[in-house]
Amino acid sequence: MTCPAPLTDVPLHQHNSFGIASTARWLLPLTDRSQFTEAVDLARLEARRQQRAITVLGGGSNVLLDEVIEGPILQVATRGVHFESLGNSDVLMHVEAGEPWHDVVTQSAAAGLWGIENLSLIPGTVGAAPVQNIGAYGSEISQCLTEVRAIDVRTAIEHTFAANQCAFDYRDSRFKREAGQWLITRVTLRLSRTGKARTDYPGVAAALIASGLASPDSASPAQVVNAIAEIRRRKLPDPAVIGNAGSFFKNPQVSTEIASQLSLDWPKLPTFAVERSEERKLSAAWMIEACGWKGHRQGAVGVSDQHALVLVNHGGGRARDLLALAADIIASVEQRFGVTLEREPVFINGSMP
Ligand SMILES: Cc1cc2nc3c(=O)[nH]c(=O)nc-3n(C[C@H](O)[C@H](O)[C@H](O)COP(=O)(O)OP(=O)(O)OC[C@H]3O[C@@H](n4cnc5c(N)ncnc54)[C@H](O)[C@@H]3O)c2cc1C
Repeated sequence: MTCPAPLTDVPLHQHNSFGIASTARWLLPLTDRSQFTEAVDLARLEARRQQRAITVLGGGSNVLLDEVIEGPILQVATRGVHFESLGNSDVLMHVEAGEPWHDVVTQSAAAGLWGIENLSLIPGTVGAAPVQNIGAYGSEISQCLTEVRAIDVRTAIEHTFAANQCAFDYRDSRFKREAGQWLITRVTLRLSRTGKARTDYPGVAAALIASGLASPDSASPAQVVNAIAEIRRRKLPDPAVIGNAGSFFKNPQVSTEIASQLSLDWPKLPTFAVERSEERKLSAAWMIEACGWKGHRQGAVGVSDQHALVLVNHGGGRARDLLALAADIIASVEQRFGVTLEREPVFINGSMP
């Protein structure tokens, strides 16, 4: 299938979950994997002509868009899911990058497969999921991802990365660190027909019991998907009602010595063990709330009154307003706790060379 003609001056407010008013000068939506090479070539020409970087956009649920994006945007909307049985209890799920992530979670659960059920109701596309190694309720995509295919936009050549080549970390990966270089085209997950609910994260077991199960151990993957979705709907503001990108800050990781000192000074500050690490994670939401930010409004933007980790756009807010508010929050948390918060959403700087 040949590439469609690029679109010009495209309004993006409906293509980002913050609902930021932004305009794409040049945007190519991609619906078929056969379009990728030609599309990357076209975007490279445009990027060279404009002296700007290429931006890859998925569902827009983890970006802060500048008012005008001058450089070319490739919007990934390719669909397709293919199951491959491995002959034991394991199944590979090959997924095209434009598939909505939550649809993949529900399809996997409907097939009775375990692995990604705790990642229910995370917005966005499959192609973006490895970028920040999406995670929630004790799971991360890196725990069952086996392969990522990605095109190097500098050469238009597709590469295949095994999981151990992706440099996955907490909300991080090589694709995030090497921003602007990779267009992820396909992801493969290794799922299992056997398993049981992961209930180590607070609230999951209680939600399963509340859904009518006698024990969390008797839950099916689909019941876990529904229970987690139910918790998330209760806790997080809905972007369809008020613009947001979920958690705006990562939970900071510090040494056990620093965590112990902070726990002495602030006995109620929640801290969590970090898998395969001596470090401990601190609750960013607790620290932000302790600094008085929850529900705070600053012009058109603010901090959700439902969840202190979520910044919101009340209407008419720009990326720069959110970045200014975030900088104030970071400064106050730093001053009070001596801990530096790190932003989660990616700022797409419209005039970036
Ligand atoms: C209400 C809400 C709740 C959320 N909850 C969670 C959560 O629990 N856990 C979590 O981890 N995240 C969460 N998020 C953040 C977000 O959903 C994820 O980061 C998601 O993976 C972003 O997908 P997207 O397609 O919208 O990516 P976009 O926002 O379009 O892009 C995000 C980044 O990925 C890059 N990118 C997108 N597609 C591709 C591709 N095909 N190839 C290469 N790079 C690409 C972009 O360039 C950008 O840097 C939440 C967001 C919202 C709005």
